[in-house]
Amino acid sequence: MTKIYQNMLGLIGDTPLIRLDGPSKAAGCDIYGKCEFLNPGASVKDRAALYIVRDAEQQGRLKPGGTIVEGTAGNTGIGLAIVANALGYSTIIVMPETQSREKMDTLRSLGAKLVLVPAAPYSNSAHFVHQSRQLAEETENAIWANQFDNVANRRAHIETTAKEIWHQMEGRIDGFTCAAGTGGTIAGVGLGLKEFDENITIALTDPHGAALYEYFKSGELKAEGNSVAEGIGQGRITANLEGAPIDTQFRISDEDGLFWVRHMLKDEGLCLGLSSGINIAGAVELGKKLGPKSRIVTILCDTGLRYLSTLYNPDWMAEKGLPPMPWQTVGG
Ligand code: PMP
Repeated sequence: MTKIYQNMLGLIGDTPLIRLDGPSKAAGCDIYGKCEFLNPGASVKDRAALYIVRDAEQQGRLKPGGTIVEGTAGNTGIGLAIVANALGYSTIIVMPETQSREKMDTLRSLGAKLVLVPAAPYSNSAHFVHQSRQLAEETENAIWANQFDNVANRRAHIETTAKEIWHQMEGRIDGFTCAAGTGGTIAGVGLGLKEFDENITIALTDPHGAALYEYFKSGELKAEGNSVAEGIGQGRITANLEGAPIDTQFRISDEDGLFWVRHMLKDEGLCLGLSSGINIAGAVELGKKLGPKSRIVTILCDTGLRYLSTLYNPDWMAEKGLPPMPWQTVGG
């Protein structure tokens, strides 16, 4: 039975799982993807946005007609903008100018005020996170969403994503893996699943250029290489990552993630972003590690339509030294 919701907010979460055929064959087990691209803002971040806004309302910090200010790679901004529109708030979104054009256009189209800043390291006050905090302080009747260190973010995944996965898998799940941006998804789903069954293996899938693989392996925050994946790749232990129950970790290259992005589109008809491809590559590694008959879940974070000007643009890919989708031609 399809449900009737009272407003858009009811559409957030309750996403289906899909069995991923090629990845399952490659790993020799069953791999499932949680279709977070089906959220109304087309990414996993709608869940965190809703929880952050509801939490701020309950604490009395967010008042009628207030403004929500946030620094984001884009998807959290899109989630916040649609939730804010539905509840009568405004949004100011601070984003590094290196993120995809589609996310910028989407945010402007949704009515968010968009502030673009140059990419800078976290230690620099010009970094988008610090800039957004400052803007929130300077703006009247505004709150700072603070997705990296506001644990309402991971609570969304403990209370919704993890529970959904457990019930959809009918309690038969051996492993879960995904990459971290804020860490809300991996920590929240990890903590939530361990409450059901502490034997479920929680694996961090880290892109190149991020420091968490080395941290969970040796205790040292150390990055290696780089990645064009948007929304993932963390260099510090955010409040959301504190106490995350990580049992094992994989480091995945953009090339390996792109292999699965290409496969999923051409052979399975799903158009995904690169963080989803990297998650799938991690899930294949986890499946090989846990063996045949294992049942693994990962996150399909956002839609590839958000990256038509980047991943699906052969000229952009050539600029980055990456292979275009084989059915596209450079300059064509
Ligand atoms: N993939 C994409 C495309 C994202 O935008 C994000 C959010 N930054 C993530 C993955 C990671 O999610 P989280 O912040 O929960 O770690």
